[in-house]
Amino acid sequence: MSHFQPVARVPGDPILGLMDAFRADPSPAKLDLGVGVYKDAQGRTPIMAAVKHAEQRLLASETTKSYTSGHGDAAFGEQLLQLVLGQDSPLLAGQRAGTTQTPGGTGALRLTADFLSHCLPGRGIWLSDPTWPIHETIFAEAGLKVGHYPYVGADNRLDVEAMLAALERVPSGDVVLLHACCHNPTGFDLSHDDWRQVLDVVRRRELLPLIDFAYQGFGDGLGDDAWAVRLFAAELPELLITSSCSKNFGLYRERTGALIVCADSHDKLLDVRSQLASLARNLWSTPPAHGAAVVATILGDAALRAEWQAELDLMRGRVLRLRQGLVEALQPFGLAERFAHIAVQRGMFSYTGLTPEQVRRLRDESSVYMVGSGRANVAGLDEQRLGELAAAIARVC
Ligand code: PLP
Repeated sequence: MSHFQPVARVPGDPILGLMDAFRADPSPAKLDLGVGVYKDAQGRTPIMAAVKHAEQRLLASETTKSYTSGHGDAAFGEQLLQLVLGQDSPLLAGQRAGTTQTPGGTGALRLTADFLSHCLPGRGIWLSDPTWPIHETIFAEAGLKVGHYPYVGADNRLDVEAMLAALERVPSGDVVLLHACCHNPTGFDLSHDDWRQVLDVVRRRELLPLIDFAYQGFGDGLGDDAWAVRLFAAELPELLITSSCSKNFGLYRERTGALIVCADSHDKLLDVRSQLASLARNLWSTPPAHGAAVVATILGDAALRAEWQAELDLMRGRVLRLRQGLVEALQPFGLAERFAHIAVQRGMFSYTGLTPEQVRRLRDESSVYMVGSGRANVAGLDEQRLGELAAAIARVC
């Protein structure tokens, strides 16, 4: 008897499949705009210098590999709270916010999904259409009912009116997932005014916001990117935030992130945290230590922090220049206006507006790889080859 006989094969992750196809492509002119990692001008995803320096210190000073606590590294937790909520947040003084360290932002989302299904059963969760595909599966697999609110219209523009109208119809008590900045996959972010309107609906309809914060520092800067998170934290009694250090510290494989809970009292925060530690015990027991120790070392040291911030500013600046540069490169082909949104969007990703057929042709005819939805990782662009890419786009438009 074969125990595994009933196990069917499922298709692999389409984005990882795209990476394989890129690797196998012999063309010297190939361009990978698929997977969501930052790349420098040489096409590398480097280790940040501040991270290397922190690691050298840790190597010299680390004294144990014993388990961390269920909530992870306490210094990391405190530093991250300040980075996300701001040093002067009244939630810190009131001890109303706490960090539970998780394996990356994905771990934070997974822990949130378990928390909702165990502790707040019956609540639905509402995701933007489109959203990062893992949002769809992570909540559905935890047994939550997943709904969608519109975000981008058929004309590839942010449709805030449709979003607000849909949120008005979300059942009271349900959870709404919002992207703090650098919306994945579209790159379209809400304005301050839009956020205030979303806050108004969330408050009136008594919805529970879950803000996914995977790109702090990649949009308009560390503080600006946290603007909506801090607004919601100041205006609402309760809030969930999933934070990732994968992109802004370049710690992808170290799996460094956190679930931040803001509660209306310190006592209630302790109740929620007790549940999170218990749920995490069944998931990964205790979180990985290294990435969190690196982040705590950097944020806790003025010189390392300044070095990290300068590097992050360079990364953000490069992405913004590439956005602007691509629109300019499309100008000679009469396409600058049609693709002007690329310069307005923020973060690594752009919903270009290219159709699946155009994406296929770009890959087959010019070895340019992007996701079928037309999502391009702008950070994968090469400043020297923007003209080449613009010409390839013009050939399929
Ligand atoms: N949330 C969003 C919107 C993302 O794009 C990502 C990563 O791509 C994550 C969360 C999770 O990041 P990680 O688990 O790599 O820290």
